[in-house]
Amino acid sequence: MAARKIAKKSVRDLELARKRVFIRVDFNVPIQDGKVGDDTRIQAALPTIRLVKDKGGKVILASHLGRPKGERKPEYSLAPVAERLSELLGEEVVFVDDCIGEKVQKAVSALKEGQVLLLENVRFYPGETKNDPEFARALAALADEYVNDAFGTAHRAHASTVGVPQVLGRGAAGLLIEKELEALSRVLYEAEKPVVAIFGGAKVSDKIEVLENFLNLADCILLGGGMAFTFLKAQGKEVGKSLVEEDKLGVARQFLDEALRRKLFVGLPLDVVVAPKLEAGVESRVVSVDEIPADWMGLDVGPKTIQEFRRKLADAKTIIWNGPLGVFEIEQFAKGTLAIAEAVADSGAFSLVGGGDSVSAVNKAGVAEKISHISTGGGASLEFLAGKELPGIAVLSDK
Ligand code: ADP
Ligand code: MG
Repeated sequence: MAARKIAKKSVRDLELARKRVFIRVDFNVPIQDGKVGDDTRIQAALPTIRLVKDKGGKVILASHLGRPKGERKPEYSLAPVAERLSELLGEEVVFVDDCIGEKVQKAVSALKEGQVLLLENVRFYPGETKNDPEFARALAALADEYVNDAFGTAHRAHASTVGVPQVLGRGAAGLLIEKELEALSRVLYEAEKPVVAIFGGAKVSDKIEVLENFLNLADCILLGGGMAFTFLKAQGKEVGKSLVEEDKLGVARQFLDEALRRKLFVGLPLDVVVAPKLEAGVESRVVSVDEIPADWMGLDVGPKTIQEFRRKLADAKTIIWNGPLGVFEIEQFAKGTLAIAEAVADSGAFSLVGGGDSVSAVNKAGVAEKISHISTGGGASLEFLAGKELPGIAVLSDK
């Protein structure tokens, strides 16, 4: 992997007066009874929308919502989002019940500078996820400029993330993507040492590429969560009924060997909280990883592990965290994850947290304010951290 910082043109750099500006946003929000449930993602897009309005652009917003699989399904309509967005902006947002075609073209031609139009769910057309050139051309025909502010879908080569900027021959990063790129690049390309990476969560298979990339980047890797048991088993330990991916034992062994060869410290749990089954209110106790009972399972890291991981985190100048250390959804098994969230927050290091469940753990611990950057794109952040090029970023114009 070329250790090169990614510098993309920003929406701030564009001349937008009187231009029709296509902004790919992430309005994939929960809808309940025809209304927007949680509007965090709509709020997050406001700075970019306001900037384009202030620059005198005509705003055309496009997003997906759910997985309608290329069909027009009313429960996935963006109409409720238009309503909420109107409230937030304090002005009418034009909504068209389609995203391409004559009706849309008419609405776009009627737009005045600073006005906002929201297109219907782009995934109502099968051409979106297939990045069909014809569909991309139809979308691109609506606009003069392209801005992407949906980091969460930047790892997908879809029509609205890759096709449209390809047709237009250019594209810029919105403010959200700009912030993501800055924080993620800082960790990948210019991190202050020592770098401590802490990984947990359910599966080795979801995270192995990120783990392998951090063999090059981290000074210390700490492993917890369900994933750790595959590594413990690969070391020859008996892990009882804990989560193990048998087909990843070889990969786990290789990872540990490679770390050893590089003299890179890998911290595995020393003790774990075990229970006979994954259920709230069950009997549970702390045991050493050498004494996991055969018919019990490990559901959290124990106090010794927390103490050891805390010490490592306290010395770090850069911390990257992905994946809860235990089944934090159940209070009884949440201690390790919450303690680590606090340790990351209190470390004084530049800290980056990514992954849907890790972000909710940080919120649950009430320490979100003290984390340097919380990455919103689950899959996209992981691919970025694995050192892969994201198609939706690669297609944007260089600075
Ligand atoms: P993220 O969304 O932050 O990337 P993951 O989706 O990889 O994280 O993992 C989160 C899930 O891992 C949680 O649902 C949590 O319950 C589960 N998990 C954590 N530790 C264990 C464990 N010891 N056994 C089973 N599942 C676990
Ligand atoms: Mg998850």
